[in-house]
Amino acid sequence: MKIIIIGGSIGGLSAGIALNCKNFDVEIYERSTARMRGRGAGLVIQPDMMDYLMQHNISPKEIFGVPALERQVLNNQGRVAYKFQNDTTFTSWNYIWQQLKDHFPDTKYFYGHELSKVEQKGKLATATFTNGVVKTADLIIGADGYGSVVRAHFLPEVTPTYAGYIAYRGLIPEEKMTQDVVSFFENKFSIYPYEHAHILCYMVPGTNGELEKGQRQLNWVWYVNKTASQLSQILTDKDGENRKYAVPPTFLSQKSVDDLHALADEELPQVLRDRVHQTQHPFVQVIVDMNVPKMFDNRLAVLGDAASFVRPLTASVTA
Ligand SMILES: Cc1cc2nc3c(=O)[nH]c(=O)nc-3n(C[C@H](O)[C@H](O)[C@H](O)COP(=O)(O)OP(=O)(O)OC[C@H]3O[C@@H](n4cnc5c(N)ncnc54)[C@H](O)[C@@H]3O)c2cc1C
Repeated sequence: MKIIIIGGSIGGLSAGIALNCKNFDVEIYERSTARMRGRGAGLVIQPDMMDYLMQHNISPKEIFGVPALERQVLNNQGRVAYKFQNDTTFTSWNYIWQQLKDHFPDTKYFYGHELSKVEQKGKLATATFTNGVVKTADLIIGADGYGSVVRAHFLPEVTPTYAGYIAYRGLIPEEKMTQDVVSFFENKFSIYPYEHAHILCYMVPGTNGELEKGQRQLNWVWYVNKTASQLSQILTDKDGENRKYAVPPTFLSQKSVDDLHALADEELPQVLRDRVHQTQHPFVQVIVDMNVPKMFDNRLAVLGDAASFVRPLTASVTA
C-alpha cells in the first residue's frame, strides 16, 4: 500500500515512522525547502510521546530532554508563592524534530513540495504540488497543520477561529544569564498566573540539542489576551507582510517588540520582566480553536494540527 504524507513536521514524521515500521511504502512531502531549524521553542514532553519515542527506538529516556522535578508558582513580586513536586521533561521543537527526522529514510522525505490540491478517484488519491509534481497513492494523509489543504478538500467548512489570545515566546541561552537567575529557574517549571494572563518558564535543550548545564536555553511562553485589531497589528511583520497564525523569530515589527517590552514593564515581576527584555528575538503564536467532525474520507485522512487544536496549550500539542 502506498501512502503519501503531506507535511514533514512532528505529526507527519511520527505517522511516517510508525507506518514505515509496519512496512507500508510511505513518502513525506514537505513544503519547506530546507531543514526546519531555529524556528521552534520549548515543548513539554508528555507520557504518550515518551511511549512513542521508546517503542520506536528513537531515543532512550535519558536523552528525552531537560528534566524538572518541581513546579513553582510565583507571586507578583517574583517570589515563590508555593511549589510542589512534579516530574516533567522539557524538550524543544528543534530537538524532537531532529530525533524524528533521523529515524525516517532521507530518500523518502521530499523538501520543496507544496501541496496545491488533492483529488480522489475510486480507490486512489492524487496530490498535485505547486512545482508541477503529481503523485498518486492508496492513501494521502494531511499532516499539513492548521491551514491544511487536505482537510479543506473534504471539510471546507472547518477553519481555525481566533481564541482571543496569543502566546509571546522567547528563548535565552543559559550562558547569557547570571548563575542566580539560572538557579532560580533550573529544574523547575515556573508559572506566574495573574488576572487574565499567565507566563511560564522552563529550561530546554540548546539549539543543537545540548542537554548539559551551561548549554541549555531558558524558554518562556506568555499568554496574553488581544483584541482583533491588536492581533492584526502584531501579525503585520517587520516587512509589512500580514501573517496568519504566527510571527517567527526576527520577524516581529519594532513597534510590536516595543509594545511587548512596555507590557512586560507594566505587568511582570522583575525576574520575568528582565527575561522578556533579555530575549533577542521574541516571537508570537496565535491561539486558535478548531476541531474536525471526522478524520478521514475515503482515501484521505488528517492528523495533528490539521485535524484539531488542543487548548489551553501549555506546550502539550505535540502529544
Ligand atoms: C517550525 C515549527 C516550529 C514549531 N515550534 C513549536 C514550539 O516551539 N512549541 C510548540 O508547542 N509547538 C511548536 N510547533 C507546533 C507543533 O509542532 C505542532 O502543534 C504539533 O506538533 C503538531 O504538529 P503537526 O505536524 O500536526 O503540524 P505542524 O507542526 O504545523 O506541521 C505542518 C507541516 O506541514 C507543512 N505544510 C503545511 N502546508 C503544506 C502544504 N500545502 N504542502 C506541504 N507541506 C505543508 C508545514 O511546513 C509543516 O512542516 C511548531 C511547528 C512548526 C512547523
